[in-house]
Amino acid sequence: MSVSKIVLFYVFTPLADPEAVRLWQHALCERHNLKGRIIISADGINATVGGEIHDVKQYVRTTKSYAPFRTADIKWSNGTGDDFPRLSVKVRPELVTFGNPDEVTVTEDGVQGGGVRLGPGQLHKLMDERGDDVVFFDGRNAMEAEIGRFKNAVIPNTDTTRDFIAEIESGAYDEFKDKPIVTYCTGGIRCEILSVLMKNRGFEEVYQLDGGIVRYGETFGNSGLWDGSLYVFDKRMHMEFGSGAESLGRCRECDEPTPLFVNCADESCRKQFLRCQDCTDAGRHPYCGECTAAEAVAPVPAPSVPAKGRA
Ligand SMILES: [Zn+2]
Ligand SMILES: [Zn+2]
Repeated sequence: MSVSKIVLFYVFTPLADPEAVRLWQHALCERHNLKGRIIISADGINATVGGEIHDVKQYVRTTKSYAPFRTADIKWSNGTGDDFPRLSVKVRPELVTFGNPDEVTVTEDGVQGGGVRLGPGQLHKLMDERGDDVVFFDGRNAMEAEIGRFKNAVIPNTDTTRDFIAEIESGAYDEFKDKPIVTYCTGGIRCEILSVLMKNRGFEEVYQLDGGIVRYGETFGNSGLWDGSLYVFDKRMHMEFGSGAESLGRCRECDEPTPLFVNCADESCRKQFLRCQDCTDAGRHPYCGECTAAEAVAPVPAPSVPAKGRA
């Protein structure tokens, strides 16, 4: 029987020749029939790939045999065997595009000047000590938080990671500048950068959730401070931490709870919005809120394609 696995990891470390690393990673993935998405920059690697468990293990072993990546913290999850449309391995100016590559310094010890790392247990300890003073700050795109988030989290108004700098400079969060702030994101990588940007802008006590929501969910499931579903950037689109998790998202058409995003049927829009499987199957409500005017003018049947994620 075939067993599919997905691995998610990142390493912040200086790479002298990102293009050489790209060629090597591409060849390695091809040899093991892996698909997924890998970004490489002068500051390291960010990868989400999946395939047969035997192949994925080989890939991980070889990747970690490269000295700069030996400390990679690999997060494993179950795949379906058809989680990614293709293999994409690219060199980019930033591993995560905050739009400010020169603000962050990366050494062999990782990102310099970031928030204090808290594992899931340490996060609970901080909550025990500081209680309601602690502010959860969502480091993802606002859309991702629609289906799941930490209790009472602050959700910045972000369509992409590029929007964060303007958000934290807007003054909207200045009341939290002297409070304990815990940033969190899917696997931790966005907080590595976001926590530096926040500290540089006067937020005094910044923590980052080490290993992200993925690790927290593995540790505490649905019994902790996390509510709902986790948005993920592959065909699964969402995951839950055990049974009994109800998505915080609501279908735009019928208001039933759903973790399912679909793309707006307008080809020039493609904005993602929540629509439950029943409404998708029935072809209801093919357009996002901003395009409903267009829907009235030119009704087109809804293609029931799953949405494509983007960090
Ligand atoms: Zn519905
Ligand atoms: Zn639209």
